[in-house]
Amino acid sequence: MSERVEDGKVVLIRYTLTNAAGKVLDQTGDGVFAYLQGKGNVVPGLERALAGAAIGDSLDVTLAPEDAYGVRSGPGPQAVPRKEFRRDADLAPGMAFRAKGSEGQEATLYIAKVQGSKVWIDTHHPLAGETLRFQVNVVGVREPTWEEAEHGHAHGPSGVHTH
Ligand code: ZN
Repeated sequence: MSERVEDGKVVLIRYTLTNAAGKVLDQTGDGVFAYLQGKGNVVPGLERALAGAAIGDSLDVTLAPEDAYGVRSGPGPQAVPRKEFRRDADLAPGMAFRAKGSEGQEATLYIAKVQGSKVWIDTHHPLAGETLRFQVNVVGVREPTWEEAEHGHAHGPSGVHTH
C-alpha cells in the first residue's frame, strides 16, 4: 500500500517543534500524534506541507506566523475576574476555551496568565506572531472511523480524545 496524506485521512506523525531561536517547544518523543487531514486540526502551513506526503517521509518546514498560529494585532491580553470561570477549572497559561461574544458569536480564547483573583485572556494563540519550525516524520496514514469523520478529528490514544 502506498497510502498518501490527503483530505479526510487520519495521519500519524512524530514531530519536533522549535521556535526561531531553536528552542524546542513541543515534541512527540516516543509518542505519535494523530490528526485528521483537511479539517484544520493542525496549523495551515503544516497541513499544506504534509498534503501528498507518503509514510516514511520526513519534512522540515519553517512557517511564518500567518501560516502557523497567526499574527498578533489589536489589544493584548485582558484581565477578567477568576470567578468568571468554574471554581474547579484547572486554569493554566496556553489553555484554550470557547466563549460566546456579546452578539452570540463563538470565539476561541486563550489564557495568557493566571495571577491571584485575575485571569488574563487573549484572543491570540500563545504562539501567535512566532515563526515556527516543524520537523516531521509521517509514520502512518489510515482511513478515519465514521465517528472520527463525523467529529472532524482523530480519536484513540494519540488523538484528541478517546470515547
Ligand atoms: Zn470526537
